[in-house]
Amino acid sequence: LSEKLGGILDRLTRRGALTEADVDAALREVRRALLEADVALDVARAFTDRVKKDAVGVTVMKSVTPGQLVVKIVHDELVKTLGSDSQTIDLNAAPPVAIMMVGLQGSGKTTTTAKIAKRLTTRQNKKVLMASLDVRRPAAMEQLAVLGRDAEIDTLPIVAGQLPPQIAKRAIEAARLGGYDVVLLDTAGRTTLDEEMMNEAAEVKRAADPHEVLLVADSLTGQDAVNLARAFDERVGLTGIVLTRVDGDGRGGAALSMRAVTNKPIKLIGVGEKLDALEEFDPSRIAGRILGMGDIVALVEKAAANIDAEKAMRAAEKMRKGQFDLADMREQLQQMQAMGGLGGLMGMMPGIAKMKNQIANAGLDESILKRQIAIIDSMTPQERRNPDILKASRKKRIAAGSGTSPEAINKLLKMHRGMADMMKAMGQGKRGPLAGLGQM
Ligand code: GDP
Ligand code: MG
Repeated sequence: LSEKLGGILDRLTRRGALTEADVDAALREVRRALLEADVALDVARAFTDRVKKDAVGVTVMKSVTPGQLVVKIVHDELVKTLGSDSQTIDLNAAPPVAIMMVGLQGSGKTTTTAKIAKRLTTRQNKKVLMASLDVRRPAAMEQLAVLGRDAEIDTLPIVAGQLPPQIAKRAIEAARLGGYDVVLLDTAGRTTLDEEMMNEAAEVKRAADPHEVLLVADSLTGQDAVNLARAFDERVGLTGIVLTRVDGDGRGGAALSMRAVTNKPIKLIGVGEKLDALEEFDPSRIAGRILGMGDIVALVEKAAANIDAEKAMRAAEKMRKGQFDLADMREQLQQMQAMGGLGGLMGMMPGIAKMKNQIANAGLDESILKRQIAIIDSMTPQERRNPDILKASRKKRIAAGSGTSPEAINKLLKMHRGMADMMKAMGQGKRGPLAGLGQM
């Protein structure tokens, strides 16, 4: 597919800004790739629609086709959508912290319960108790007991005749009395989404009041992933998702589907049958697998890096010659903006706290960056190259165009002169570039 896509995309070799037609053409292919990866249809459509809004108008860099650039934008958005701040299991509660596992039969709940128990025991030094609430299949409880024995993790003694909520309560009580940090509740699944399972899970949740409710789902789940995740989230309430069988051949589109409908983080992935085959979820790895266009993404990243290098060289050359016009300044301002404004920029440079204060005093915040860029955008190319021609009438026109005032333009010009002088000094000086910045 990637080759075919490359072929179609290569024909779109126009440069400039991405047009709606460019984006539409590439997104048709992207949508097809998402469907092939088993992303649910609605999710794929909603996702590409969202990306379309961001992509139209983005500047196409040299040596990259519009289609390739769209793929890269899609990839980045995919990583962003899949990622989240809270990917680890949250144990931030009074012990014993209860973690409840839900999901269809065969999805890997029991295995994952033991995997998580082992992980918390060995990596975080937690004392963990596991309890099987699966009263439907006699072998299920024994399965967890065997896993526990092998991994040297305690399991709740089996008592015949109890209902799942009772077992949950007994497990929590035993964990409290036994001084356990964590109690894992492995529930019974069903082969399909049925009422009985949902009611049972909801009852267990009420009885146990777990801190985490993790949906364990097979990464090979196709179009059903949406219904599965939505039903469990609505009926039981999820705090996260564990994706299993990521070691298989599937492309893992279920990750995107489930994340999109529940907005719950994917916390861990299962990558094999063994108890240590549990890994942290890596959004970019799964994004690459879902999209299946890693070569294109890498190509665009390389092109972007080249352009940054070229820009830096051009800037250095101008600096050396003492040329630093308003177009250059605009580029600098935009870079500052991209780095999260001056706050972000300063955070990245050591020893510039003092300068940060100066800037704060001057009121140079992000809204000002935006305004300054707007002013420069309202100038003609000639004015940007040669600010000396900016007399009163031109300033009035630019002020009107940018929604500012001639005073604001004077301020900008003053700042530009300051920067140009500094650049000149840096270009000729013996000191490092960061030392020069201090004069800004
Ligand atoms: P449950 O019915 O949800 O409790 O599912 P089980 O934990 O009993 O797992 C069903 C089968 O899937 C078992 O044979 C597991 O070994 C297997 N399994 C679970 N997780 C994974 C995984 O991440 N990768 C692979 N390859 N197999 C897994
Ligand atoms: Mg089970």
